[in-house]
Amino acid sequence: MKHKIAIVGFGGMAGWHYDEIKTIENLEIAGIWDIKEKQRNHAADMGLHVYEGLEDLLADKTTDLVLIATPNDVHKPVAIAAMRAGKNVISEKPVTLSSADLQEMIDVSEETGRFLTVHQNRRWDEDFMTVKKILEEGKLGELFRLESRVHGSRGIPGDWRQEKEHGGGMILDWGVHLLDQLLLLFADVPLYSVYATVTHVTNQLVDDGFYTELVFENGVSAMVEVGTSNFVSLPRWYVLGTDGTAVIEDWQLNGKIVRASGVDEKDVMPVITAAGLTKTMAPRRDDSIFTEPLPEVKSDVREFYYNVMAVLEGREESLIRLPQVMRVMKLMEAIGRSAETGEVIKLRL
Ligand code: NAD
Repeated sequence: MKHKIAIVGFGGMAGWHYDEIKTIENLEIAGIWDIKEKQRNHAADMGLHVYEGLEDLLADKTTDLVLIATPNDVHKPVAIAAMRAGKNVISEKPVTLSSADLQEMIDVSEETGRFLTVHQNRRWDEDFMTVKKILEEGKLGELFRLESRVHGSRGIPGDWRQEKEHGGGMILDWGVHLLDQLLLLFADVPLYSVYATVTHVTNQLVDDGFYTELVFENGVSAMVEVGTSNFVSLPRWYVLGTDGTAVIEDWQLNGKIVRASGVDEKDVMPVITAAGLTKTMAPRRDDSIFTEPLPEVKSDVREFYYNVMAVLEGREESLIRLPQVMRVMKLMEAIGRSAETGEVIKLRL
């Protein structure tokens, strides 16, 4: 079955969708609408149909799907208008700016019977899929700590992402991806507490980075960090289990797994430092550990669209479930509250 998608907001991310959609059978772009003439002309130059306005786009009976790729504050009004006009909706992330707003969108989805989903494409990032596989294979023994970071050094982008009213800031930008990934790893374990700090190195109006410590009810702790003034990047993932440690350095998937071999080291040779000695922190003897490459994963982000089409045809459940999206939204709110008050937020999420 062929689906036609109309795009609202034709900036940077819409260009990415355009490239993806071109490669997908049975999915075609019906046209676009953008408030900026420059972007409309750009789309026309690419051979795309340009609607007269949002109403014109929503009145197009040939489309069953609307993709919203506008700044974050515009997702909700456009999504609601689209669902009321009978369209199914893919919203870019973050779906909106608060859990109350998201609830309104969910209510309209239920009331109109239209499908609402969110482009959480980083569920298909290979680094994340690798961590998932390591944990599924149980290679590290029992997980007790996980760290997920992204570090850049150019500050926050100089567009609407610097403005609070448009839903700017790094919690809503990169945070939503990392928190979505993390909570998927703990799908069945309630989150117990949240502590967070935010940075304002290059921007006072919105956070240009944040750090959060999460504790789950099973005692596992996790930290998530987004930094935009980090000239030296720390590893993308650091995963600790009772039998071993995994590190994924970067998006190129450099990294390794190191596990205990079971060979007793007997007498550990202490490390002598300038001011003392330590056995506790001494490196492992080679035969007491195995060092292994990371497992291989295969990713095709187009699965997102294949799934959306299958949902519309009644063949599959949505991979991006709205209760998951709501859980992430509530976590982002708790991060904001903790950063503001300096307190640990206790919750059952
Ligand atoms: P952008 O500024 O490049 O593009 C946004 C476009 O929306 C602009 O062309 C602007 O003119 C247009 N616009 C603004 N208000 C509008 C309105 N009321 N109606 C129609 N058009 C309107 O921003 P971007 O980087 O493309 O980000 C767009 C969305 O995509 C954001 O929600 C962002 O978080 C998301 N995004 C997602 C990813 C991802 O990996 N999933 C990556 C980048 C951006």
